[in-house]
Amino acid sequence: MMVPPMRIRTVNQAPPDTNGRYVLYWMTAYRRFRWNFSFQRAVEWAKDLRKPLVVLEALRCDYPWASDRLHQFILEGMVDNSAELSNRPAVYFPFFEREKGQGKGLLENLSKYACVVVTDDFPAFFLPNMIAAAGKRLSIKLEAVDSNGLLPLRAADRVFSSAFSFRRFLQKELPEHLSDFPLEDPLANADLPRIDSLPEEVVQNWPPDMVPFSRQGIGGLSALPIDHSVQSVSTRGGTRAGEDLLRSFIEEKLRVYHSARNHPDEEGTSGLSPYLHFGHVSVHQIFSKIASAEKWSVEQLDSRVQGQREGWWRMNPGAEAFLDELITWRELGFNMCSKRKDYDQITSLPGWALEDLLKHSADDRPYVYSMHEFEEAKTHDPLWNAAQIQLAMEGRIHNYLRMLWGKKILHWSRSPQEALDIMIELNNRYALDGRDPNSYTGIFWVLGRYDRPWAPSRPVFGKVRYMSSRSTMRKLKVAHYLQRYR
Ligand SMILES: Cc1cc2nc3c(=O)[nH]c(=O)nc-3n(C[C@H](O)[C@H](O)[C@H](O)COP(=O)(O)OP(=O)(O)OC[C@H]3O[C@@H](n4cnc5c(N)ncnc54)[C@H](O)[C@@H]3O)c2cc1C
Repeated sequence: MMVPPMRIRTVNQAPPDTNGRYVLYWMTAYRRFRWNFSFQRAVEWAKDLRKPLVVLEALRCDYPWASDRLHQFILEGMVDNSAELSNRPAVYFPFFEREKGQGKGLLENLSKYACVVVTDDFPAFFLPNMIAAAGKRLSIKLEAVDSNGLLPLRAADRVFSSAFSFRRFLQKELPEHLSDFPLEDPLANADLPRIDSLPEEVVQNWPPDMVPFSRQGIGGLSALPIDHSVQSVSTRGGTRAGEDLLRSFIEEKLRVYHSARNHPDEEGTSGLSPYLHFGHVSVHQIFSKIASAEKWSVEQLDSRVQGQREGWWRMNPGAEAFLDELITWRELGFNMCSKRKDYDQITSLPGWALEDLLKHSADDRPYVYSMHEFEEAKTHDPLWNAAQIQLAMEGRIHNYLRMLWGKKILHWSRSPQEALDIMIELNNRYALDGRDPNSYTGIFWVLGRYDRPWAPSRPVFGKVRYMSSRSTMRKLKVAHYLQRYR
């Protein structure tokens, strides 16, 4: 199985250097070794050129919102990755910065000795710019590989304005990609040459020491120039924890996902979004495990292409509902981020929503809170405060309440632009799964993206969909939730 060419993007014009000492996989977004097209592509290069394979997984401390919470989750993943590659035919080079800029020059120096560099093609946050800049600096070939979703990013040549239109597109296009899955273990049977040592110059300047921190003594983190006020959480990062969670979700919750997911008291969702965001588990892997649990095969697909939300996969209702979130909604955001540079700007809203919000920008608000008041959960509304407390304490918000959380920030901010800034800041700062294409799907959905106008027109919202805490409390089971996050 080769990596589909549609998933490979050549970033620069430089040729591979066949005299190099190794192939370099620069892991930036899909922080795992299994079910990963990027890593698989690097293994393909190493096999073709009969060269050793080196994997660089680096962690900077100067990226926006860097904190104990995010660092710990990523570092736990690095611990797993280090264990996973020991005794395998590839060298793992973990590097995390102790001070800002310490990693500068590391990639260039490692790649001076490489034949080719392969990296991850993630379409959001600072990563696209970082990869473009690296492409300019490297004097050997740099490839970025897309392992983001079941649908390759380049399989669609337009931006979709609704989940319905994207679902229709998926129902037409996805079947041909369902046989192109990444290998579970690209290193299985890979007889790659070993490397004795990494270049001296590199090791001396950037010693690859393995994570001098543990859950008991996070001494390593407190010395770093990152935000220590956003503390680490008990949700453990890494592929092992992600796979355990996936297993228990499929065994215990998938069957009733459709009926339980909206009720905060039932904890009926998977909790997989942080692992998807940091690439500790892959969407292909999740899909495969669900397909086997459902004893599903591709022949079962409904051949009608109607954009229907349920019934297309012909799986159980729980699995159908889950795949609609995991594939339709998740990949809708990847489509947007890969095609529009302004995906995080208010100008990217559909015309009707932007016009309406601006028209109502000066409307009186029943309450107006500052960023600080929102952050401290100091509103008049206990349900909203509970959601914010969950976000600040645990790095997550129940999905349904996340919609309400956003809608009320819009309602109680001075302007739509200020509401957008507050949502981006709080979501990306506190949520483990923030800084993701899904972050912008959710935040911009609050402002009308992927939605339609809803009558009647209301103050502040215009025809943008309105939500209230009162009706949420009427419809959903929230008693325990309110108790827990008081
Ligand atoms: C204001 C707002 C902000 C959001 N910010 C983020 C964010 O930063 N990161 C993030 O991953 N999701 C975000 N979402 C979407 C959604 O809330 C989360 O994906 C979901 O709650 C994650 O929990 P889970 O893994 O248990 O989801 P499950 O219900 O188990 O769903 C499985 C997976 O499907 C995808 N998914 C589920 N719901 C959505 C959705 N509505 N839109 C897109 N993909 C979805 C996620 O990858 C999720 O992990 C946001 C939604 C809103 C309204």
